[in-house]
Amino acid sequence: MSEEWVRQMQNQVNTLEGLEEYINVSDDEKRAIEKLKTKWGVSPYFASLMDKDDPGCPIRKQVIPSMQEQVNEFGMDNYLVWKENRATEEVRPDSIARQYHDRIAFTVVQTCGIYCRHCFRKELVVDQDLKLRMDIDEGLSWIAEHTEIRDVLITGGDPLLLSDEKLEHLITTLREIPHVEMIRIGSRLPIVLPHRITDGLKKAIGGFHKVPVWINTQCNYPKEITDRTERAVYELMSCGINVGNQAVLLKGINDDVDTFRELHQKLLRTRIRPYYVFYCEPAPGIDHFRTPVEKGAELIRDALRGHTTGLAQPMYVLATNIGKIPLMPDYYIVDKNENEYVLRNHKGETTKIPNIPE
Ligand code: SF4
Repeated sequence: MSEEWVRQMQNQVNTLEGLEEYINVSDDEKRAIEKLKTKWGVSPYFASLMDKDDPGCPIRKQVIPSMQEQVNEFGMDNYLVWKENRATEEVRPDSIARQYHDRIAFTVVQTCGIYCRHCFRKELVVDQDLKLRMDIDEGLSWIAEHTEIRDVLITGGDPLLLSDEKLEHLITTLREIPHVEMIRIGSRLPIVLPHRITDGLKKAIGGFHKVPVWINTQCNYPKEITDRTERAVYELMSCGINVGNQAVLLKGINDDVDTFRELHQKLLRTRIRPYYVFYCEPAPGIDHFRTPVEKGAELIRDALRGHTTGLAQPMYVLATNIGKIPLMPDYYIVDKNENEYVLRNHKGETTKIPNIPE
């Protein structure tokens, strides 16, 4: 008998008929599913969180194709090649993307638990126009030869869809490379398929080791967190795996003060540390999800600062081909002279502290 997570993947909801078992499909959703030749799919578990009657449901909008995906006024062609710096002179395996000297992203799989409509890697995982050769051993050899690589981010698709055996091989081999100091895994499965956090997985990637494993998941809306999520996160932490969140700022989904605050407070209650909020990148076909760039900083100022603990405050960044650009709110220092700083808080109140000469 296969494990529950495997059965969930085998029964991924990716047909109109399958979707109709969960929701009353809207005309736009129906047209997009029938007309757009795009890959889509959602685990039955995550589909069960959708609002049956509301096409504006944030979970529906993240997983069901929309005709708006055809509007592409601002998305950049070949986005992933630009963003991941793939067109450089350095010879690297397809699986290795590099923007920094000491860390790389290692793409190991092309499939996902859900196919997010806003994915910046959609050319690879959704549209599949970008073909990469994902040879795990080739990537491992490259990392072993590059002694400057301290930090490896395992990405995809969703790396936790690899079997326990493949993950164990991957993590064990990385941990044997003397210069690798830490391993990060980017996975939406703790949110969209928490059933994947099994004893077998814990054994494959957990346990005490000098080279820690961090999982960064993606949760964009409070309703995505359930009792199952809480249990899965606890299980990961119980075997030494740290869990963070990388939300994407999405128009009409989490770009209002109440939702943004509830999301971050609920993440922390679930033991997930809010790590990043990403501006929705200029990948093609996702214009309808994009807010003004300033929006994330405004939300951190208005929804989080002064309203909840600093632990719940993520860094707002725009990921680009030259690395992440922080875009945090900058209202704090109102004035400065040789005697003092004038500082402002989230309520607009000001205070002064002395300017101490260097
Ligand atoms: S799970 Fe990640 S890689 Fe897969 S579609 Fe969603 S955002 Fe993209």
